Amino acid sequence: MSRVIKSPRGMNDLLPPESSKWLYFESACRSLFERFGYLEVRTPIVESTELFARGIGEATDIVEKEMYTFPDRKERSLTMRPEMTAGCARSYIEHAIHKREPVTRWFYTGPMFRYERMQTGRYRQFYQVGVEAFGAPEPSVDAEQIAMLYALYTQLGVTDLDVVVNSVGTGDDRQRYREALVAFLTPHRSELCEDCQRRMDTNPLRILDCKVPSCQLLVVDAPNILESLGPDSRAHFDQMRRHLDGFEIPHRVNPRVVRGLDYYTATVFEILGGSANLGTQSTLVGGGRYDTLIERLGGPPTPAMGFALGVERAILSLPGDPSEYVNAPLAYLAAHGTAARERALAIAHRLRVAGLRIEVEHREVGLKAQFKRADKLGVRYVVTLGEDELASGEVKIRDMNRRQEIAVKLRDLESALKQRAHG
Ligand code: ATP
Ligand code: MG
Repeated sequence: MSRVIKSPRGMNDLLPPESSKWLYFESACRSLFERFGYLEVRTPIVESTELFARGIGEATDIVEKEMYTFPDRKERSLTMRPEMTAGCARSYIEHAIHKREPVTRWFYTGPMFRYERMQTGRYRQFYQVGVEAFGAPEPSVDAEQIAMLYALYTQLGVTDLDVVVNSVGTGDDRQRYREALVAFLTPHRSELCEDCQRRMDTNPLRILDCKVPSCQLLVVDAPNILESLGPDSRAHFDQMRRHLDGFEIPHRVNPRVVRGLDYYTATVFEILGGSANLGTQSTLVGGGRYDTLIERLGGPPTPAMGFALGVERAILSLPGDPSEYVNAPLAYLAAHGTAARERALAIAHRLRVAGLRIEVEHREVGLKAQFKRADKLGVRYVVTLGEDELASGEVKIRDMNRRQEIAVKLRDLESALKQRAHG
């Protein structure tokens, strides 16, 4: 017997009916984001490694230890995208989008790859939906994105949302803060986890993000980054929060939210919630402003604001069983006998092409089994076709909810079902 092959660790199959829940979520995102003026962009799943090293930053978890990097056949170093902001920025620059329009609003959805330790809500191939707005420095853009997300989760029935905002200021602000933080942490250096001891030298702000409990305890008394903000950064943050109030978005400030990535400036935020049992995997969304990234990647100075949400975590927090998200067929054509089955298949084809969701059986099985199947599918209408119906040219449409039947001519079946589909 040959050995069974399994999917790579941390990379999952998405099967029906679970996929229906995903589709429902993704179409809710699309429909909402489009109302806010965001249009879809698709970039390659693989990019040159240098893009992520320069875009995300060498001293980040992602670049240090989470990337799937490999040489292609010409020894070029490529990386499976661990996130999509860098790819969007690369694309924005490559196509000189800034020459076409002052403000660009993109959204994306797709798989990302990070070599991480597997846990519920944390995978090696996972999906993100995200948004990027290029060209607008206004704090109202930041607030609008947060409000859009809040509307998304609320509309989908995700409760206990926790919107947490902060500002990491400009490069100068961060430099000042970095010094204050290092001065505070230096006497405690030996109490930090191994990773954080290294972070002290490379990227000390990331210590605030560390998930090791002893590190989290230490930083509770760390200096507050908001106190290192210059007047412009402070004004931007205050205005952003006023807009959030205007949009009626409940939120709180947490000066320890700094996000792991190098490219953030000014606003950073996270939205937690939905699934009380997900622990450190309860962050549904992370985002922020990244006004220096485009320039850092060789483009013109361009302010930008964006976020990425985790689809798996969104799905885990959406109420309801996946089967509730499957659209049941409108009608089931049950057939009795070979001639009737042939006719049923032809009718089903015509109805499907005409836009209706119709279920029909290809196998020679009895009517009872077909009715059972119709019931299991949650079909609203059952139409039975046998010798009598073929002879008379008339069928009965049985309404499974109301438990009643009406007779229609076979040639009127399409319009009768259409009426019911839209009624
Ligand atoms: P975390 O702190 O949980 O590792 P992160 O800061 O690395 O998150 P981002 O890079 O900001 O995450 O990605 C945005 C969102 O994508 C996260 O809030 C989360 O919902 C989701 N996400 C990130 N990494 C994973 C993963 N390995 N598996 C599933 N979802 C993920
Ligand atoms: Mg991470």
